[in-house]
Amino acid sequence: MVDCDVIIVGGGPAGSTAARRASQAGLSVVLFDKARFPRYKPCAGGIRFDVDSLLDFDIKSIGQRKISGATMFAPSGFRVDCILEDRSVPGSIIKREDFDHLLLKKAAEAGAEIREDTQIAKAREEESHVVVTTKEGEEVTGMYLVGADGINSIVAKSLGFYDGWQGDSAMVAIEVEAEVGSTTVREICGEPSGYDADLLLLYFGGLSHGYAWCFPKRTVLSLGACCRQDRGGELRPAYEKWYSAFKDEYGIEPQILSDTAARFPIKRAKNIVKGRTILVGDAAGLVDAFTGEGIPEAIESGILASSALNKAVKEANPRSLREYEKDCKREIISELNAMEFMANMFYKSRKNMETMCRFFRDDSHANFLIAAGIGGLVTKKALRRKMMLRMVRKRPREAISLLI
Ligand SMILES: Cc1cc2nc3c(=O)[nH]c(=O)nc-3n(C[C@H](O)[C@H](O)[C@H](O)COP(=O)(O)OP(=O)(O)OC[C@H]3O[C@@H](n4cnc5c(N)ncnc54)[C@H](O)[C@@H]3O)c2cc1C
Repeated sequence: MVDCDVIIVGGGPAGSTAARRASQAGLSVVLFDKARFPRYKPCAGGIRFDVDSLLDFDIKSIGQRKISGATMFAPSGFRVDCILEDRSVPGSIIKREDFDHLLLKKAAEAGAEIREDTQIAKAREEESHVVVTTKEGEEVTGMYLVGADGINSIVAKSLGFYDGWQGDSAMVAIEVEAEVGSTTVREICGEPSGYDADLLLLYFGGLSHGYAWCFPKRTVLSLGACCRQDRGGELRPAYEKWYSAFKDEYGIEPQILSDTAARFPIKRAKNIVKGRTILVGDAAGLVDAFTGEGIPEAIESGILASSALNKAVKEANPRSLREYEKDCKREIISELNAMEFMANMFYKSRKNMETMCRFFRDDSHANFLIAAGIGGLVTKKALRRKMMLRMVRKRPREAISLLI
């Protein structure tokens, strides 16, 4: 006899989505999170419009701002607005305190047992079940286990999926919440056309593989910078330099509400299924290496995981979990591989960042493609293919120079 069908470690978007969907399918689910919700999570909070369609409930009530596109600042300083003409499908900005709390409440509403403030110290598999041990030494057993515990996944480490995310496999980030008031947020991030939506600002060139950002929340700016972990020494000085120039440009002296550092993976875990265990979200390395976006992928992997878990429970066959691996490769990993290609090319050098920003500025179709890609209107694979084809046709010499 086990305590439940599925144990989920981690109540971020990946874990709470898997918990809700598995509970809706009739499985008994226990979800552990070391935090008490609402909890702070360093995140810029940008979500594409299609996140709405992945969820089976409304998230409009917690939206902070409507987003109609992104503005890129090239290494030499020129500005490129990437805004879709069709503004009927905007993205939005959320605060993770609100968003993750809502998703967790929805998992509880569907029947999952949520155990907050409970850290899992280790996990193991027996032949017929899984066991997790809390920091306090309590053991809980289940038929299957989901590692939704983020980049430092204790589930993945305990069960030998990997030791950690080394060198170029992760990004390090600084995220600062700066209170400036809603009028200033609008002045800095509002659409220049006056249309009632805001833009995500991305600044390239200050970091050799990364960028700085300014994302608009209701009265607060999420300011930050990220770069590849193996170049982490650059991060703080580059952020300070950028922040000082940013403040000078807008003549502001924000009140800093938080200043945190965090990491996110940019490569996929070699294995995402082993025996009776599945990895989802950041624990599986499902983050876009070009944009740093991982919320949609976390939710989507939670959905795919729940359907494989349902099959495994109903058929009493752990091998059914392999379906998750297949689905995830087809739906998520192939998309992320396309963005890894784009990221490696774009961030390869300041020259490449400059060349591509110029192309996005001067070629209207390239501008449309990047806006549609970031907004989620075209698949990431289509974005890579169409962007490369366009570049080869319009700027063949530059296209070659990007790749060598
Ligand atoms: C600075 C920064 C900015 C970002 N900005 C964006 C953005 O704008 N848009 C976007 O789409 N993505 C963004 N991301 C990426 C995004 O935050 C992640 O991809 C997403 O949170 C992954 O969700 P998850 O559920 O897999 O993991 P998480 O959200 O990390 O959740 C993991 C959960 O597991 C819990 N946990 C961990 N260990 C244990 C344990 N041992 N026992 C119990 N519980 C445990 C944690 O408390 C946490 O609640 C950003 C990331 C960073 C670092």
